[in-house]
Amino acid sequence: MATAKSNPLSYLRDQLAELDAKGLHFRLRVLEGAQESVARFDGKEVINLSSNNYLGLTTHKALRRAAIEAIRTHGVGAGAVRTIAGTMDLHMALEAQIAKFKGTEACVVFQSGFTANAGTVAAILGKDDLILSDELNHASIIDGCRLSRATIKVFKHRDVTDCERLCKETENWPGHKLLITDGVFSMDGDIAPLAELCTLAEKYNCIMMVDDAHSSGVLGRNGRGTVDHLGCHGRVHIQVGTLSKAIGAMGGYVCGSRDLIDFLYRRARPFLYSTGHPPSVVATCQAAFTLLDSPDGEKLIKKLWANTKLFQRRLKKLGFSIGATETPITPIHVGEAAKAFEFSRRLYDAGVYIPAVGFPTVPEGKARLRAMVSAAHRRADLERASAIIAEVGRTLGIV
Ligand SMILES: *Cc1c(COP(=O)(O)O)cnc(C)c1O
Repeated sequence: MATAKSNPLSYLRDQLAELDAKGLHFRLRVLEGAQESVARFDGKEVINLSSNNYLGLTTHKALRRAAIEAIRTHGVGAGAVRTIAGTMDLHMALEAQIAKFKGTEACVVFQSGFTANAGTVAAILGKDDLILSDELNHASIIDGCRLSRATIKVFKHRDVTDCERLCKETENWPGHKLLITDGVFSMDGDIAPLAELCTLAEKYNCIMMVDDAHSSGVLGRNGRGTVDHLGCHGRVHIQVGTLSKAIGAMGGYVCGSRDLIDFLYRRARPFLYSTGHPPSVVATCQAAFTLLDSPDGEKLIKKLWANTKLFQRRLKKLGFSIGATETPITPIHVGEAAKAFEFSRRLYDAGVYIPAVGFPTVPEGKARLRAMVSAAHRRADLERASAIIAEVGRTLGIV
């Protein structure tokens, strides 16, 4: 006689119920149409302060045209991993263009910023090596560090003194050493003390690596990133960037020496074992970098910073705590997770979409809304959004 089978995955339902009970309801919001500054999510039009589309490039005419043209000439897919038959002339041209933009010898494009970080750290280090990592580094860095099986030592956020303490402690480490940091931190919007960390890397003979996902297209001349912004050219061995944020499409890249890139071509597992970008995406990115390096690109970056200043000044004046942000990433601190989620829900009902973030993306007790300003916002959108944030914030006793 058949007995009722128990479901070995039933613990997942228990854990979901536990999260719901804590007020941490979660549902994917569905965007109906393009990623724009005013957009329709779940059937409701809202002012969109939720995307990483810093320069409004997700819908830019020149990028759309480039994508369509590449589909005409190269089809819709690469058809193989890059190391077998999937490397197209477009891929090589994009890599050359990015290397030139960043002022490095070479560049390799990965499927995402995530795989760029994880694939690179795991490829260049092994179990005898050491990693010094900022405590707020991105999840893809943390995963890459774990995959490498190297020893990981974490220094306090942006704390050069604490980093040097670890450098001294490990001065005679026999293996390779890597010092790694986000250029701009994705949840707080603050900037790494890159020049000081480079000095430590030089003094203690570490490989220096920076993840510029949130600063490419945002900081530095024409959006060249934190290395340019902080005058650290020639001091950072490995620069990671993403094609998924300001660039408006999808992918990630690593810039550095010819040897580094040739090594990653042969050893970075996502590069070796996962298909390369479709031609339309590659062409989109080429058009984006061409735009960045033009007067139109400069105009967009200027607008992004003007919008950022306007919005952040408003919020501060209204009494919100936006922390130590120095970039368009605008945290609105709430503290308790359930309250942050409630704040976000009520804002959405009132016509403003700003997602809440809680544990594990940020530490417990440090829940917040994370508002993202874009060059595409109109001044009136930002003013209206601020007024609504103030009204809802007062109702909830946040200000
Ligand atoms: C978003 C992000 C990534 C991942 O980039 P994707 O291209 O979206 O995979 C990596 N590092 C940081 C700091 C990020 O914010």
